[in-house]
Amino acid sequence: MNFDYDLLVIGAGSGGVRAARVSAQLGAKVAVVESRYLGGTCVNVGCVPKKLFVYASEYSQSFKDSAGYGYTVDEKPRFDWAVLRDNKTTEIERLNGIYRNILENNHVRIINGHACFKSAHEVQVGDQTISARNILIATGSWPFKPAIPGNEHILTSNEFFYMDKLPERMIVVGGGYIAVEFAGILNGLGVETHIVYRGETILRGFDNGVRAFVSDELQTSGVRIHYHSTIEQVDKQDDGSLLATLNNGETLTVGEIICATGRKALVDPLNLDAAGVQLSHHGNIDVNDQYQTNIPNIYAVGDVIGRAQLTPVAIKEGMFVAQNLFGENPKPVNYSMIPTAVFCQPNIGTVGLTEEQAAAQYDAVEVYEAKFRPMKNTLSGSPHKVLMKMLVDAETRKVIGCHMAGNDAGEIIQGIGVAMQAGATKEDFDNTVAIHPTAAEEFVTMS
Ligand code: FAD
Ligand code: NDP
Repeated sequence: MNFDYDLLVIGAGSGGVRAARVSAQLGAKVAVVESRYLGGTCVNVGCVPKKLFVYASEYSQSFKDSAGYGYTVDEKPRFDWAVLRDNKTTEIERLNGIYRNILENNHVRIINGHACFKSAHEVQVGDQTISARNILIATGSWPFKPAIPGNEHILTSNEFFYMDKLPERMIVVGGGYIAVEFAGILNGLGVETHIVYRGETILRGFDNGVRAFVSDELQTSGVRIHYHSTIEQVDKQDDGSLLATLNNGETLTVGEIICATGRKALVDPLNLDAAGVQLSHHGNIDVNDQYQTNIPNIYAVGDVIGRAQLTPVAIKEGMFVAQNLFGENPKPVNYSMIPTAVFCQPNIGTVGLTEEQAAAQYDAVEVYEAKFRPMKNTLSGSPHKVLMKMLVDAETRKVIGCHMAGNDAGEIIQGIGVAMQAGATKEDFDNTVAIHPTAAEEFVTMS
């Protein structure tokens, strides 16, 4: 059978664009279908706008800190949400153009529209039917909102980036990556910020010591955390404000509520049944270690397979599929060694096992920990501290986990990730000459 394309990619996000570009560079005839925006979640409503907002929010602390270094800021710094929002949108449009160029310069055809399956080799986009020998599903994920009365008044991260104005008071629901990052942004921008979280401590899945430390630091910064709490109902009031009723009967009146309660694989509109593709019981697309679904010519990568909802992971998975189909030596993704950062204040950087996981997996684990006031905070008088942890397998001496909460943790942990990927031991860290004076040097001087 003749096909229109060797590879048809559904979704021009992190995973899809990389798979399309690399496949085309390896000689395949490739098209990508995109219904919303080039660059996907990361570029449009994820990592990039979020990080720009994080940078914006950090200025308020810097203004405060500058006094101890001799600065006088005569007037109270004023912040204009519309300027930040619109400058961010302009930057994203620039990135959309770069993504378009990446695809077009590599002869990938871009098809605008919504794709759904007609058969295992055919996809419908509007009134076109496109056939392909191989199809890659890279449709990402979509925010999930719990079904509570009044949830139509609740925003998700998607809408947050385009809000008309910044309210004086807001609630963020959830205790994961997005909730703590958004709480940090809002608090830094001067919004009275409430986290409503159903559990005992935020950031489930992270090292317990880091969780407790970050919870304290966020509260020191002014974020109000309501633990063991859920919103039972939201009512819109005559003045436009929202009245949130919590499970303990407490009520909060706020300008906006953002739900950050996880993301679900974006599969429903794909008509997967027409192709026979199966889902896991969590609702993600089930794939084997080649990212192949139960239908041999259909592959899936990124958030839609639900392994680790992170841009660099989607990119590596997309690269694997391209190299496996059209090149050679595809590089498997090492899921046990994914460095990751949460861009809250303080930032969290982490790679490898938590203390709890290490204790469960190894007979003897050495735990090294340092909590200190970084030099920058001495003259500024800032109360914020840094936490660093290193976990070592006592038998092999290998470093099996590193965690940091403090300024620039994401930047610092990236290098530590390289060392751990290469199998570094505690002695390799100890034998490395420190860079002085830095916070990072603590990782090579821990005893
Ligand atoms: P996506 O990037 O979501 O791309 C999927 C694309 O498919 C979209 O463009 C969508 O429009 C398109 N699509 C869907 N269905 C169809 C269809 N039927 N037809 C045509 N097109 C379709 N990760 C990090 O690593 N670091 C971060 O700092 C970070 N911050 C984040 C902040 C937020 C607020 C959010 C929401 C996510 C963040 N992430 C971060 C996660 C990261 O954005 C995702 O893991 C990543 O974008 C997943 O890539 P993907 O290719 O799987 O999907
Ligand atoms: P997470 O899975 O990280 O967190 C979801 C939070 O919502 C958890 O605290 C969870 O509680 C809570 N929750 C889930 N369901 C409900 C419910 N029905 N009612 C109340 N609370 C609920 O998801 P996010 O939305 O924060 O982010 C999605 C993913 O995006 C992340 O997992 C991450 O992979 C990616 N991301 C990465 C970033 C980065 O790399 N810096 C930044 C932002 C997102 P509980 O803990 O009790 O389960």
